[in-house]
Amino acid sequence: TFTLGPKITGWDLQRKAWLDQNPEYPNFVRGKARILLLTGSPPKPCDNPIGDHYLLKSIKNKIDYCRLHGIEIVYNLAHLDVELAGYWAKLPMIRRLMLSHPEVEWIWWMDSDAFFTDMVFELPLSKYDDYNLVLHGYPDLLFEQKSWIAVNTGSFLFRNCQWSLDLLDAWAPMGPKGPVREEAGKVLTANLKGRPAFEADDQSALIYLLLSKKDKWMDKTFLENSFYLHGYWAGLVDRYEEMIEKYHPGLGDERWPFVTHFVGCKPCGSYGDYPVEKCLSSMERAFNFADNQVLKLYGFRHRGLLSPKIKRIRNETVTPLEFVDQFDIRRHSSESR
Ligand code: UDP
Ligand code: MN
Repeated sequence: TFTLGPKITGWDLQRKAWLDQNPEYPNFVRGKARILLLTGSPPKPCDNPIGDHYLLKSIKNKIDYCRLHGIEIVYNLAHLDVELAGYWAKLPMIRRLMLSHPEVEWIWWMDSDAFFTDMVFELPLSKYDDYNLVLHGYPDLLFEQKSWIAVNTGSFLFRNCQWSLDLLDAWAPMGPKGPVREEAGKVLTANLKGRPAFEADDQSALIYLLLSKKDKWMDKTFLENSFYLHGYWAGLVDRYEEMIEKYHPGLGDERWPFVTHFVGCKPCGSYGDYPVEKCLSSMERAFNFADNQVLKLYGFRHRGLLSPKIKRIRNETVTPLEFVDQFDIRRHSSESR
């Protein structure tokens, strides 16, 4: 059967030895775990040229969040394994980064169609001390309903450890494109509630693995739903004005969603579950909603959530440092508060 590469064993000990020998590359810096955010998009231009502009906005949004929170970022445009093209491309890339960056404690995968919409919120990492995989999801949807949307693989975290390498190995075999992926898709549709008939996708395959090997994998898997590690865009993007009126960044939940993910939109490719125009204007709103939080630091905001134009929100001053102290997002983030 298909493998991601030579079977790695004893990674935890190998990695520990490396960390001991390379104290200039610690996996914890000032008490905070080193995080690498990984995202990417297909190697070729989008079928719909405007899609590339939204990919640009999406990476700008991620660069902003990561810069403000001391997270490193990798953008992947390659198919490391031709068999695992498309949504499966994240698996070999996650594995590669774990092995090439032993100093990184957590690899955070984020889809290109997911935007940070709370620039202040920080992951409550200490909650995950005893876990190796953090997914947005709901236990009842997973174990009672066996729903194909019980967890979402658009934004999730893997600890750099042997357990994660083993999980990637167990996850990958449904991925190879062609007959394997097609046949696996039938198994997934037969077993997961609500799943339409199509080839095996990474999300369904992970859900199926967690369900069928619950004892093996769930001990170290954290299902997060106290904030939107992934937030389904429909029902969020229309409420941004209301959120601005009532709440403030830093909450991360339905009051001010951490991540807004455009599930079912395909602005880059040709077809999706929603009209392209609806998807693009909603992405525009999500981007500007987030960008306002960044621009505020510099004294500007967008004229409206659909406008690329900005306006000044405070006067220039001869004592700029006062504003630095007042507006710097890094000082107001959840973990440093
Ligand atoms: N992706 C990638 N390379 C590809 C195809 C997809 O890196 O060749 C990434 C991209 O970030 C995308 C994610 O995988 O958002 C999930 O793929 P999917 O086709 O489900 O796209 P989505 O529905 O998220 O737009
Ligand atoms: Mn997505």
